[in-house]
Amino acid sequence: MSEVAQRFGTPCYVYSTETIATNYRAYRDALGHLPHEVHYSVKANGSLGILSLLANLGAGFDIVSGGELFRVLKAGGDPAKVVFSGVGKTAAELEYALRSGIGSFNCESQEEVELLDKIAGQLEARPVVALRVNPDISTETHPYIATGLRDHKFGIPFKAAERIYRDAERFPHLRFESISCHIGSQIFDTGVFFEVLEKVMALVERLRGAGVFICQLDLGGGLGVSYRRDENAPSIAEYAAGLANAVEGKDLRLLIEPGRSIVGPAGILLTQVVYRKIAESKEFIVVDAAMNDLIRPALYQSHHEIIPVVDRNLEVLNADVVGPVCETGDFLARDRRMPTVDTGDLLAVCTAGAYGFVQASNYNARPRAAEVLVEGSKAKLIRERESYEDLIRGETIDGDSQSAS
Ligand SMILES: *Cc1c(COP(=O)(O)O)cnc(C)c1O
Repeated sequence: MSEVAQRFGTPCYVYSTETIATNYRAYRDALGHLPHEVHYSVKANGSLGILSLLANLGAGFDIVSGGELFRVLKAGGDPAKVVFSGVGKTAAELEYALRSGIGSFNCESQEEVELLDKIAGQLEARPVVALRVNPDISTETHPYIATGLRDHKFGIPFKAAERIYRDAERFPHLRFESISCHIGSQIFDTGVFFEVLEKVMALVERLRGAGVFICQLDLGGGLGVSYRRDENAPSIAEYAAGLANAVEGKDLRLLIEPGRSIVGPAGILLTQVVYRKIAESKEFIVVDAAMNDLIRPALYQSHHEIIPVVDRNLEVLNADVVGPVCETGDFLARDRRMPTVDTGDLLAVCTAGAYGFVQASNYNARPRAAEVLVEGSKAKLIRERESYEDLIRGETIDGDSQSAS
């Protein structure tokens, strides 16, 4: 990490090829004998280098915007192995996706189904459609990342979904062969996935009884990872094997959309101590990474372990680790007991591979960090650090025609 910091500077996201590949294979191997597809959720980390790595491992992709589709295609992903999720797909996004030949659409409202049918008709396409059903199941996770309750904006209630499936002939340009569900993220209690699976399976059986043959089930993502040293996240292999077991013999192709559990533990945010600031009541470690680089602590009150790259075995201190952004919410850790560090020391903010860089912004006119992918003893830059010029790209002072397009 010292070498990476020297070569590429800080703050810098650093990812492990090995960990990403191991996590992806854990899913794939456990689902092994079953007809299945692992669609990596692009929103967890959509950098081209990461997408390309996963595409080469054979992954499909779960996208939630036209921009994510563009990224997947640029990274060499197979459009036939892409599923398109999200509550607010626009006509332009649906058309782009259809023209790109993506595998299937997870639709979240009757209005969306109607629009997709119309556009598919115009383009003479006939895509596979899954209705994303809302199982009305609560999950123990941060309220911002729970998605499976009746009063969340996601999915379609079972009854309404059943009506649409039974009315399938109203939508001649769509193939209603699939059903999908995604109940949230950072879930530790894998029991809820099986509860959901059971509920959805019951609906599948009812629909089959009514002549709607659903042959594909997409259970979404959401498996949690350990952010704290003393946490024990569920194992990917056990979870996926459980799913395989539950779906075995049900005449279903199983899709899953893991994001965090593949890339979260595979990345760190590497940052350097700028100052040690001792205030009246406490101590602050001011680092060169901030909430614009990693917003999770501010947005979700999330915990990330922070460890010195070189542990000099000094005594423990109690401090807030904060960035330079002008917000009191700009902290990476609060009241953290950690080994003593000095100005110039490098720190690793752990488990930052998911929902890290993707949520980075230019707030306070801070260029976004570099990203580095490590494989074995080699480190390669997969995203340059932004420059000041990047900060003003597309901006003009007087709105001249060149940039107003
Ligand atoms: C965010 C999301 C995922 C991935 O969730 P993780 O918790 O990162 O595994 C999968 N599917 C959909 C529809 C999502 O919105």
